[in-house]
Amino acid sequence: MIVVLRPEYTQSDLKRIMAHLQEVGLTPNPIIGEEKTIILGIGGSEHLKVDAIDQLRADDAVEDVLVITKPYKLVAREAKPNGTQIDVRGAVIGGEEIAIIAGPCTVESETQLMLTAEIVAETGAKFLRGGAYKPSTSPYSFHGMGVEGLALLKAAGQKYDLRIVTEVMDIRKVELVAEYADVLQIGTRNMQNYDLLRELGMIRRPILLKRGFAAKVEEWLLAAEYIANAGNDQIILCERGIRTFETATRNTLDLNAIPLVKQLSHLPVIVDPSHGTGKRDLVGPMSKAAIACGADGVIIEVHPNPDHAIKDGSQSMTFERFQSLIPELGRIASAVDRILSSPVAVKTSR
Ligand code: PEP
Ligand code: MN
Repeated sequence: MIVVLRPEYTQSDLKRIMAHLQEVGLTPNPIIGEEKTIILGIGGSEHLKVDAIDQLRADDAVEDVLVITKPYKLVAREAKPNGTQIDVRGAVIGGEEIAIIAGPCTVESETQLMLTAEIVAETGAKFLRGGAYKPSTSPYSFHGMGVEGLALLKAAGQKYDLRIVTEVMDIRKVELVAEYADVLQIGTRNMQNYDLLRELGMIRRPILLKRGFAAKVEEWLLAAEYIANAGNDQIILCERGIRTFETATRNTLDLNAIPLVKQLSHLPVIVDPSHGTGKRDLVGPMSKAAIACGADGVIIEVHPNPDHAIKDGSQSMTFERFQSLIPELGRIASAVDRILSSPVAVKTSR
């Protein structure tokens, strides 16, 4: 790190700050210039350094502290320059194939879920999404079917050979949800629930970590670092839109973050254009844009009757629109040297 001293610093300030750097394991090298004096702090352990930055900034003789290394290590691109591929029961996320994850916002009934699963499987998508535990802004709105919803998801996954992606909100339910799901989703509201993140480090299931709606890219990567540091490196990042001054869409889908995060981290990154836009007509165009800019997959809300969906109907696609979108995504995928799996024949219940 580099500690920049205020112009009016004294010799005793310099001595004190050098001693502070030594205390936290850094070797101090002062450079006394005509206008500025800086101290280079070399080496040191991550653990001590993080807190020392704030302590040094609080010193009256310090103008600024600049940190050269990234605050995350395990999820940084340098740790795995070739990238991470996550194998979810034979379906790989982060490889050549674009992952399509689709399904309703929330599991509402057996009929709703099975009908949706069938369509999703027919398009060649390999992942079914659906919430059994729903975070809601209002305490009075629907909070999901709970275990019953998890059981329906598992049954739909088995029937249609789909891998299940579902949200876990509560540290006490991590093991339970992991019994039913292939991938555990952490919602935008929980990206900074650090106890939950630590718990996810201890299970053997891939984690889909959504970006907090007010989280900077660095905070998002540090949230992933929590999970990796606790022992689970199977993490898929998901950009789902951030809150900005714009109210014409539900969120502002930050597609800048996709190529940026690809540079900064080795983890696969997918995009959620449903929550990112809040408008079903924008989901197709933004899914295409996501694949074009390097996303490893998309997660899309699809419902048999969006206008009657309990949650997020206005951003949920009809079956027809979702089915017609898939070949459009295939064309974008091949333009960027990726592939999309082909439609499959499934045993139909229609
Ligand atoms: C969801 O996927 O339905 C959801 C609640 O997402 P987010 O946490 O991104 O709002
Ligand atoms: Mn939703």
